[in-house]
Amino acid sequence: MEKQIAVLPGDGIGPEVTDAAREVLQAVADRFGHTFSYKKALLGGCAIDEVGTPLPEETLDVCRHADGILLGAVGGPKWDTLPGHLRPEKGLLGLRKGLNLFANLRPVTVYDSLSDASTLKNDVIDGVDLLIVRELTGGLYFGEPRERRGEGETEEVVDTLLYTRGEMRRIIRKAFELAMVRNKHVTSVDKANVLESSRMWREVANEVAQEFPEVTLEHMLVDNAAMQLIRRPKQFDVLVTENLFGDILSDEASMVTGSLGMLPSASLTSDGPGLYEPIHGSAPDIAGKGVANPLATIASCAMMLKYSFGLHEEAKTIEDAIEAVLKQGYRTADIAKPGKESSSTKAITDAVVEAIQASVDIS
Ligand code: NAD
Repeated sequence: MEKQIAVLPGDGIGPEVTDAAREVLQAVADRFGHTFSYKKALLGGCAIDEVGTPLPEETLDVCRHADGILLGAVGGPKWDTLPGHLRPEKGLLGLRKGLNLFANLRPVTVYDSLSDASTLKNDVIDGVDLLIVRELTGGLYFGEPRERRGEGETEEVVDTLLYTRGEMRRIIRKAFELAMVRNKHVTSVDKANVLESSRMWREVANEVAQEFPEVTLEHMLVDNAAMQLIRRPKQFDVLVTENLFGDILSDEASMVTGSLGMLPSASLTSDGPGLYEPIHGSAPDIAGKGVANPLATIASCAMMLKYSFGLHEEAKTIEDAIEAVLKQGYRTADIAKPGKESSSTKAITDAVVEAIQASVDIS
């Protein structure tokens, strides 16, 4: 298989973790006889520095012509004082909107050998395997008007929570499709006791459920979902929700694993390339030191192979290699036990590559 991958390293540790991920993709290509080619493009702070805008038109163009997009992370203190439209994060939001990446998938899997990294008790998190599906291009983050009016104590502020029925249907349908290849259970999260938008969301979820008789649908209020995620996360298979609720719940769920450096994500559309990125940020505090954990970005590549290229065995090979190096005891500083020695980005990446190469012998 020949695939073109757009690589947007971004800022901070972004270049380090995307370089590591490319090495792993190359190992997979060699192992399975595929050809992956890469095209780098600017996004975020580095794009502001070089061309004066966080999302150059050329970057959108490179992404549109790719089969998959790999992103590191954007942002950092250097750009924190710029006006809103010039912030690195604006580039990321523009990319999601420009490519219509409406479905954000965040799997939360607890690796056996890392269960100690969580602040939750082992018996609560052992075996957790859930997928959060968050709507990414609508709701409060994009609705208009968004403005302040008047002044003084009567000054008003408004953000708009706007969705069409079609926007709700496509993300909820995506969650059901994903549940079909998992454990066939969808939890739809809303605030239907208060919000009109949530009442429509619930109606649409019930309609979509009719198309998937094998999948069970459960409705849960967002405040309860926030509690249940730390009380009994194992009850969830696929959890689907709108943009703002999804933003908050997916960060909460990521902490079930205790480790930001381990969690991948995918953002998908119905008719174009998907975007794959770790959920962590650019970690300016450790940038350039060679100590960043590359596993979230490497696991994001496994998602790309699975969701954009349909290469399921190859994706599993990466996931197994990650599990194997953790079992061998490799730990970057963020997941190492206090006082224990930690591995560099290079050492852990080399170990993943070796595990992929070694998998030839047993296949
Ligand atoms: P962060 O995720 O960058 O870092 C939080 C903490 O986790 C830091 O101590 C960092 O060293 C550590 N960490 C994160 N990823 C790690 C990794 N792979 N290996 C080892 N340690 C890791 O969050 P932050 O500090 O709040 O944000 C820093 C910058 O990143 C900000 O400019 C923020 O806007 C940006 N950001 C970008 C994205 C994105 O590009 N998608 C997401 C979140 C934050």
